[in-house]
Amino acid sequence: MSELTKCHNCSEEVTEDSDFCPHCGVLFAEAGEVFCDEHLQESAIGVCIICRKVCCEDCGVKVAGRIFCQAHRKVKVQEDWAEVFRSTEVADAELVKSLLESTSHKVLCQNFNSIGFVWDGGGDSPISRSNINKPAKVFVPIPEYLQAMEVIYDWRSSQAVIQSDDAGM
Ligand SMILES: [Zn+2]
Ligand SMILES: [Zn+2]
Ligand SMILES: [Zn+2]
Repeated sequence: MSELTKCHNCSEEVTEDSDFCPHCGVLFAEAGEVFCDEHLQESAIGVCIICRKVCCEDCGVKVAGRIFCQAHRKVKVQEDWAEVFRSTEVADAELVKSLLESTSHKVLCQNFNSIGFVWDGGGDSPISRSNINKPAKVFVPIPEYLQAMEVIYDWRSSQAVIQSDDAGM
């Protein structure tokens, strides 16, 4: 077993022989030893924690102490979880959750209790959930992000097919 040590950037535990921190993306190699995947002359600043692409200052961004590539800079991350879905429709979020669970992803949910607010007007109000409740969010562990997104993408495209079938009737 490899020895554990602490990341100098985020203080998470990492194995001593890692080249980079899987939690925040910083490189443990000496500066100048590792080069950007795209700009082969540029020293890398770290590894995108989502796709593990090695980034230089030009193609990587540091957000709250973690490294992301340009493609993933918008991904919302909390602790070691990445947001894969958000919707003000809790039903949609529930669906995504069970979808991901059925493809054996670990799932974490936020704001699934739509009743942080009790509507006493009865029925559906014009200012329904979408305006009042925070969106329901679904997270998966960061290393599972790309796979989970594919699952959701497939689900969305199958939805789109169903909807266009309906429209054709
Ligand atoms: Zn770290
Ligand atoms: Zn990336
Ligand atoms: Zn670069």
